[in-house]
Amino acid sequence: MAGLKLKNIVKKYSNGFVAVKDFNLDIEDKEFIIFVGPSGCGKSTTLRMIAGLEEISSGELWIGDKLCNDVAPKDRDIAMVFQNYALYPHMTVYDNMAFGLKLRKTPKEEIDRRVREAAKILDIDQCLDRKPKALSGGQRQRVAMGRAIVREPKVFLMDEPLSNLDAKLRVQMRTEISKMHHRLQTTFIYVTHDQIEAMTLGTRIVVLKDGVIQQVDSPSKLFSEPQNLFVAGFIGSPQMNMIEAKVVKRGEGLALTFGSVEVPVVPEKAKKLAPYVGKDVMMGIRPGDIAEPSTLFEEQKPNYAYATATVEVVEMLGAEKNYYMVCEGNNITGCFPASCTAVVDDKVDIAIDITKIHAFDLETQKTIT
Ligand code: ATP
Repeated sequence: MAGLKLKNIVKKYSNGFVAVKDFNLDIEDKEFIIFVGPSGCGKSTTLRMIAGLEEISSGELWIGDKLCNDVAPKDRDIAMVFQNYALYPHMTVYDNMAFGLKLRKTPKEEIDRRVREAAKILDIDQCLDRKPKALSGGQRQRVAMGRAIVREPKVFLMDEPLSNLDAKLRVQMRTEISKMHHRLQTTFIYVTHDQIEAMTLGTRIVVLKDGVIQQVDSPSKLFSEPQNLFVAGFIGSPQMNMIEAKVVKRGEGLALTFGSVEVPVVPEKAKKLAPYVGKDVMMGIRPGDIAEPSTLFEEQKPNYAYATATVEVVEMLGAEKNYYMVCEGNNITGCFPASCTAVVDDKVDIAIDITKIHAFDLETQKTIT
């Protein structure tokens, strides 16, 4: 069992490009950590440095109580699952899974026990005699996982392991990986650019941009308390609505205004917004926090600000519909019940939950409240 410590880690490639900048992170034993961020943000580079496949330019990597910067990959007690599975085509599933253990001179009976056990966990015990080309994509993915499991490593590293699977299989394998983490009680570090995968799998998520950590938090905290504009926009689907609004005084309190719309600021948030009176900020509101007024109970109504919007696109998702609208020149998305009947070009009333408003400083891009 092992935790990891990444201390001031920097990766500068030989062409001078700095892909990872001063990366600091403590990962506890048995955590399921996700590295998420847009293409090129340094997720894979960081994972590959942990695996020992990429040299660390400066900083320290500790696995358990061992400084590992210069430890060979095979001696790091980690197993990595790659996006393309990297299976040996000429070997059977059994031999693919046994290969790493044979290299380590593990006794034959022990290899047999571990391979059959892992195959059972992953439900591929009926495929052990087949070669990879006689397997489906999902089965190949399981073999790649199996090869990692049999090593009984202290840390599992996974680089976009589900990206080659079709949508349905991805969802299925996502729950399999979650179960596997629960069963194995081992540290998992998982790279993805898919924020739904990140939110559903991780105990903690590391959001990266341009090689710099933006925020490290639990999925629910990232969603409800993003620390800056980038995280607020990256986490959540559909994206958080962003509208430039002015902070104004209204009686004893404050309001955010855009066009003719006024959004009262609740007292808890007013204190942090007070220094911005007379200035513009970026107001954020999640699509799920915009309602159709007719769906609100009487006692909920005082917690909402009201506006009118024009429907541009309607997306039917089954239980609900996404409404892409324009309100006072701003694009705004709302998540409404499927029973909502409004269609394209309709003018609709919308209600904004004032207790769920976010505000960001336009200059620093940091969260105000
Ligand atoms: P993706 O989701 O597209 O895989 P990523 O977040 O995993 O992206 P990395 O593969 O870690 O990104 O790459 C980070 C940055 O480093 C990118 O801008 C990439 O072009 C650059 N990079 C990667 N490998 C090298 C290399 N060998 N030499 C120079 N630059 C590199």
